[in-house]
Amino acid sequence: METDSDIKTTAKGFYCTLCNVNLPNMPSLDQHVKGRKHKTLTTVRTSRKTQEEHSVFVGGIKPDISQSDLAEYFQQFGPVTDVIMDKDKGVYAIVQFSETESLQAALSCVEHQMRGLKLRVKPREKKEFKLISKKKNDSQNLQQVLDRLKPELCQLASVDAQMQYVVEKFQLGENEKKARGLLVQLLQEVFIEFFPDSQILPFGSSVNTFGIHSCDLDLFLDLENTKVFQARAKSTTEQAVEGMSDDGRSEDSILSDIDLSTASQAEILDLVAIILRRCVPSVHKVHVVSSARLPVVKFHHKELNLQGDITINNRLAVRNTRFLQLCSGVEDRLRPLVYTIRYWAKQKQLAGNPSGAGPLLNNYALTLLIIFFLQNCEPAVLPTVDQLKEMACEEEHCVLEGWNCTFPSQPIAVPPSKNTQDLCTLLAGFFTFYAKFDFASSVISVREGRAVPITDFLSKNKEEAALQEEQPTMISPHGPKLGPLNLLDPFELSHNVAGNLNERSQRSFQRECQEGEKYCRSLQYQHKSTKGKSWGLVRLFTPNGDVPHTKTEHLTITIPFKSALLPEGLCNQLQMVGDSFRLLWFQKVSSAVEEVLKSVLRCQLFPSTDTVFGRDSAVDAAEEMETTSASLNTSTNDSCDSVECKSEASPLGTAVVGAKRPLSSGSDDSVSPQGKKPRLARRGRLEFPHWLCVQKHIVWAGRRKVRRELIKDADSSPEGSCVELESQVTAHITEKEPELKEPLEFRVQPQMVGGTESTRAVLKMEPVSDKAGAFQDFFHFLEAFLPKMVETLLKKDSL
Ligand code: ATP
Ligand code: MG
Repeated sequence: METDSDIKTTAKGFYCTLCNVNLPNMPSLDQHVKGRKHKTLTTVRTSRKTQEEHSVFVGGIKPDISQSDLAEYFQQFGPVTDVIMDKDKGVYAIVQFSETESLQAALSCVEHQMRGLKLRVKPREKKEFKLISKKKNDSQNLQQVLDRLKPELCQLASVDAQMQYVVEKFQLGENEKKARGLLVQLLQEVFIEFFPDSQILPFGSSVNTFGIHSCDLDLFLDLENTKVFQARAKSTTEQAVEGMSDDGRSEDSILSDIDLSTASQAEILDLVAIILRRCVPSVHKVHVVSSARLPVVKFHHKELNLQGDITINNRLAVRNTRFLQLCSGVEDRLRPLVYTIRYWAKQKQLAGNPSGAGPLLNNYALTLLIIFFLQNCEPAVLPTVDQLKEMACEEEHCVLEGWNCTFPSQPIAVPPSKNTQDLCTLLAGFFTFYAKFDFASSVISVREGRAVPITDFLSKNKEEAALQEEQPTMISPHGPKLGPLNLLDPFELSHNVAGNLNERSQRSFQRECQEGEKYCRSLQYQHKSTKGKSWGLVRLFTPNGDVPHTKTEHLTITIPFKSALLPEGLCNQLQMVGDSFRLLWFQKVSSAVEEVLKSVLRCQLFPSTDTVFGRDSAVDAAEEMETTSASLNTSTNDSCDSVECKSEASPLGTAVVGAKRPLSSGSDDSVSPQGKKPRLARRGRLEFPHWLCVQKHIVWAGRRKVRRELIKDADSSPEGSCVELESQVTAHITEKEPELKEPLEFRVQPQMVGGTESTRAVLKMEPVSDKAGAFQDFFHFLEAFLPKMVETLLKKDSL
């Protein structure tokens, strides 16, 4: 099969060389190969190959030779299907025949003469078909920028000087700002013709003091006054004043076709797009993106080589841009920090979603994370938004769309910070802060300048979901959409500005902060190399390339704490136990894992409390619950016991008592392979379950087919979404398919991670006996299957 050569086996599963994607297991590989991207690329490659095999390269032509001249000449060798000219230079062409015989005939002709020109005719070079990834191109550009920057940065005397240099190097120059200003002015003049009294206001990086050379131009077209104007004009017209409104302006314009008070956002944006296309010189590539959170008209300005975005419903963005400007004016250290961290994040591929969509942090979110860190320094570098509100005077009072957006208009109104740390220390502090930050159980509030416990939002969210179900027309729910990284907008408090992040991007961000923290502790960060080696920011900016981050990742399966997906009952239970919610959640997950392995996949399970993988899981877990135990005000020297002490006094009640015992059911039929009963948990220690599992069947192969046979409409039940169905699939396979030659034995040990980082259950897996060589396949299958099934079981709320 043609696709076989595209698929390579790797340590982490498979890699499709045609599409440049990693696939963790067989089911995802299967899905990928049948998917649209892979199929399209295979078709394109086949047609390119056919073209290559049917065409010749023709050199020695002159610009006045046309396509039809060449087609006419080469017809003598056989039917010509296409002629592609190198138009700009006019020196070569590709001539494509419909039959290979014609190609051979053209190639075997000793001399090609046409209009007195001697043509060189050669076979076409065979180029390997490769998908050119934009990501790769971008990272090549970044690498070039860094290569130029490196020697300059290395020469400077301190990290502080390096950070200031980054600002100088990247910031928008005065001329660029002027050019942008002129374009805004031109747009204002054009739009006012069509939308009387409208205002076009720039926001975002062009004006927030953090703009870089290539940054986009975000614009808000404010039509509020136009609506008033139109309403007034309408009533005047109704009073039989013909054609002219009372202020003398003609209303016989594009505006007369649309009633702004009733027109939909899409209709208005279409109109904006028409105006841009027809009336603004140098503007091209105009298109409306209506699927965005805030629909937008995008355009490109040729002369300025500038990407522009126009929104019409974005008053809050103009205000939060003012807020960023204020912070920048209040605190001089903010700009170097923002420029440095934005560049670092870009290098590490943590920020900068292509075309604004995607699971990465955007620059606005990243800037808010920096501000939040500065609010939490000791002493604080920046005040909270609530404190700023108190510093504002009466005239500065501002409420937009129901949100209080009050803050002083001038930096002078804000007292200077008592914090005197230098930039080098603050940058290292940023990494330390987020390396340890507990994202899973916190909602970051720049407004309050503190991490609000996520439990405060859990039941609120459920209540709103129920309300939405009852009233589907309700546009904006009051709680933020919770996700792996929760960062509240400073003003629109129901909006999580990092709501687009997925587990992976959140983890990458934290992991890179941990790397950053480690590096900042080294001498290479703080001291200039006397031997001309890279130091300071240079090493921090070096992209990771494709180096894998963790050594043993392929033998662990991670089940993240996803608050948004938990059922209402469980949310309430978690909320009730407060700080101990992790433990209760982990207990539920462990029970679910046990059920999936035992009941759904029919593994024989032998609970064990032996120390496996070199360390006692209880010790690992207790260490990782450092924050929990510390917050319980108990001795950290014996954190296991600390957790237990708290447990007995905590409202967690049964859940924590359960955690002291092995979490597995330990039912009577659970005997070890040697027929021994598992050891009981030692009194006074926190025990987590781990199991020795035995699997005799290849339950991971061919599941999709069986599932399809069992239910007619396979789409209605994706893999892992129904416990009964998946159990039936396993039963079917174990009955119909032959057993493995030798049973597969492996250990599974769940651990809870998340005292100081995002809460997650990590299942460590290790083969014990794998004579049939099945462990890798089973592991890859479980990597995708287990988290999904656990989610399904948690949703059932029966654990
Ligand atoms: P750049 O354009 O260089 O990436 P920027 O500072 O302009 O950086 P954008 O992501 O373009 O950042 O955002 C522009 C403005 O849009 C922000 O200043 C903010 O007002 C608003 N904005 C962007 N993302 C969000 C979001 N997730 N939630 C709320 N407002 C946002
Ligand atoms: Mg922008």
